[in-house]
Amino acid sequence: MSFNIDTIRADFPILQREVNGKPLVYLDNAATSQKPQIVIDAIVDYYSNYNANIHRGVHALSQEATDKYEEARQKIQHHFNVGKAHEIIFTSGTTHGINLVAHGFSSLLNANDEVIVSALEHHSNIVPWQMLCEKTGAVLKVIPMTQEGALDMAAYNTLLSSKTKLVFVNQISNALGTINPIQDIIEAAHKVDAAVLIDGAQACAHIKSDLQALDVDFYVTSAHKMCGPTGVGVLYGKEKWLNKLPPYQGGGEMIAEVTFEKTTYADLPHKFEAGTPNICGGIAFGTAIDYLNKIGFHAIATYEHELLTYATAQLLQIEGLTIYGTSSDKTSVISFNLKGIHPYDVGTILDKLGIAVRTGHHCAQPIMNFYNIPGTVRASFAFYNTKEEVDLLVSGVRRAQQMLT
Ligand code: PMP
Repeated sequence: MSFNIDTIRADFPILQREVNGKPLVYLDNAATSQKPQIVIDAIVDYYSNYNANIHRGVHALSQEATDKYEEARQKIQHHFNVGKAHEIIFTSGTTHGINLVAHGFSSLLNANDEVIVSALEHHSNIVPWQMLCEKTGAVLKVIPMTQEGALDMAAYNTLLSSKTKLVFVNQISNALGTINPIQDIIEAAHKVDAAVLIDGAQACAHIKSDLQALDVDFYVTSAHKMCGPTGVGVLYGKEKWLNKLPPYQGGGEMIAEVTFEKTTYADLPHKFEAGTPNICGGIAFGTAIDYLNKIGFHAIATYEHELLTYATAQLLQIEGLTIYGTSSDKTSVISFNLKGIHPYDVGTILDKLGIAVRTGHHCAQPIMNFYNIPGTVRASFAFYNTKEEVDLLVSGVRRAQQMLT
């Protein structure tokens, strides 16, 4: 499909609405993306026509729902070039996937083993590991960041040793947009036999990742960042690792046989999928992936890069505006502040103009501490945004500056 911005915008019903009497300018895509009609239709279709529990019934509706859910798993498998469908575990999202792996490693780590995180992480890729370290006595090491908001790879290489068991890093920082060199991170970790988990929550809407080529051990992401619904995501794990980890939650679906003396667990992927899942969410996630692939990730990345370059140049013309995260390798996220003005105040005025941005620490307080700031204003662009919307953002920021100084 050729990239036609008008056709694309027409796919998203929410983009037609007004906020505070102004056309909505949605620039909070790093928090969650908007949903095309085709994804909304997939949800309505499930509840209207074949709502039933899966993997359990012999009746037609249950079979239909099961087939569609498993079809979605295969779509996700092929999208991420994963070898086996049962290496894809449905979760409620990135946070769930990370907690599942962290829980599993509590039986594999010993005191004084080391695990490595980066300074650029979302809290959901920090806190579960801290809890793991408290439980096991393992030591958490941190890859430092540079002033530009990139990882200090030389420092990373000095942190790795035979004590390192696990490295967990995001592919793209949600707070700054930095694209991390995950291929190098994975290769270096494997040289010391450490496993690697990549948090793909911010990357999945911008980059199509080949998980076999990356040779990553675990990969987690959320559907809602890539035009799918909230409350569903996936964990990819290499089969050998998923077999090694204990189940995370007990319940229905994840068992082979239950007696009061002993329970045996189901095979992958069901071992990690206790309880009734988000069935329509999983199915609509598959639809979202089809939608994005139809547009094409190359076209998306090219267009978003143009928006990023244009918006960066325009915003930098505003006196007193500082952008945090200036690495040359970044996606369409601009985190900034106006001198002497709290980010929350800028966000509030932009909202009055119909412009949705995020303000605050973006669940990445260590990054804010590094820059010694309370937070930033974050504008994050998707492939359905336009240069005209960038212009509205820039004039809105100028207006906020005038009003607040
Ligand atoms: N990691 C990153 C980099 C994120 O951007 C987010 C969402 N902001 C998460 C993890 C958590 O994702 P979720 O809330 O969907 O579990």
